[in-house]
Amino acid sequence: MPRGENAVGGHAVRGLEPRALELEVVPLNAWARLLLEQLGDPRTSGGRWAQAVKARVQRVDTFRLLTTPELEDFLRRVGDATARLINMENSRRRRLFFEGRGIDYSWMSAWSRRFTDYFEIYKLLGSANFHEACRLISDQWKGFVGLLRAAKEGRLEPWQRVRPPGYRKDRDGQRVPIVVVRFDNYRIDLERRVLHLGYWNIEVPFKGKPRWLTKQGAKQGRLIIVYDPVKKRWYARVSVEVTLESKLNNGLKAGVDLGRERLIALVTEPVNESGEGVALLYRGGPLKADYFYFEKKIAEVDRMLSDPRLEEVDRSVLKEVRRRFYERRRRRRDQLFANAAAHLVRLCGELGVAVLLLGYPRGVAQDKPGKGNSNMWSYRRLEQRIAVAAENRGIPAFEIPEDGTSKVCARHGCEVVRGPRGLIRCPHGQVMHADVNAAMNILARGGGKVPMRVRVLSFIPTASKVIAVNVKSSNPA
Ligand SMILES: [Zn+2]
Repeated sequence: MPRGENAVGGHAVRGLEPRALELEVVPLNAWARLLLEQLGDPRTSGGRWAQAVKARVQRVDTFRLLTTPELEDFLRRVGDATARLINMENSRRRRLFFEGRGIDYSWMSAWSRRFTDYFEIYKLLGSANFHEACRLISDQWKGFVGLLRAAKEGRLEPWQRVRPPGYRKDRDGQRVPIVVVRFDNYRIDLERRVLHLGYWNIEVPFKGKPRWLTKQGAKQGRLIIVYDPVKKRWYARVSVEVTLESKLNNGLKAGVDLGRERLIALVTEPVNESGEGVALLYRGGPLKADYFYFEKKIAEVDRMLSDPRLEEVDRSVLKEVRRRFYERRRRRRDQLFANAAAHLVRLCGELGVAVLLLGYPRGVAQDKPGKGNSNMWSYRRLEQRIAVAAENRGIPAFEIPEDGTSKVCARHGCEVVRGPRGLIRCPHGQVMHADVNAAMNILARGGGKVPMRVRVLSFIPTASKVIAVNVKSSNPA
């Protein structure tokens, strides 16, 4: 493969000078980083080449624990002790921080108190798991340091708040249990479907299939057990380090526009001799419907809550109901994003897409704080979902600034006029879906060849599945 002189350090570090970054690409997954390191900018790399590469990545397998009252009692006891440790340590470190005496992000400072302040907890957790809990605390504080640095360099997302790690407490001030187990202190028996916890010598049956643990060369890391108050169930989350493989190549590129009229619009470079590309459209209807459904439910609860005659006990019940509506809405959206991303990337694999270019409204991120933030946050979630799904399939994903991509005709570079039903019209008589046009512009910005025509495939993603919509085959885009 060609190795340009610009191969090293050619990629943008997110942040620095926002202006200078406008035309930079940002790698969104392991393959994109590898590609940048070895080849430089994907927009300018020429020639035909392919290379088989590997990358170690972190994934999580989640299992639902089948608990008895005794097991539940045990998990609550250990989980509460760990939460207490975290709260005490964070309280101490927060004091240091707010008094201007620096940031303590080491695990050793907690560990060194194991025979004094934390002796009871240390005995209950055992040394391996106490150690892992100290490392978890340290990781949180390191994350805080990273955010502070990002804030200083002006590269925070608009919705990001920089706060020192807080307390594991719910709204009523109750501690929220968490069990932390070191990689070498548990065993997952996939045949008997039991989780064996070493120090306590306890077996917990579970449900669920691992996606990553069974991969060749998989290495288990930290195990976290938490209680989900909405589902009223215990879950085990196992960090797994796995090796992924990719046949990196500079084959077909695809541009992706996120969430205007459509949730996702993707356009590929020409797939055949006649210059025809493929467009994949994912409609946002069910997402909006979910949003309004829950919005209505939440408004109903708010109305009831505003009644001054309401008794305190009813008030707390209603607040809990409201919290669950929010939670369910968030989960359904996440599930829908996951389904759409997996579906999109699978089709990309079948079409032979070798590089994904995702438009991201970076300018907007700085211009519109406030209500738009939740939207921006959604964009980011969806973008990350697609990037990880692509990583799993060996496809590099890059972020490309998309400012202005909706205002310009991808064919002629002239200004477009927005018409009804999400269509745009250019002075040369071109009529196109605004999102298809935006995706084409992103494709062009990423150095891709804009197709003359596109075959449109349309889908409706929901929280449970992705539905294919029958569309008349060719769209003279
Ligand atoms: Zn035009």
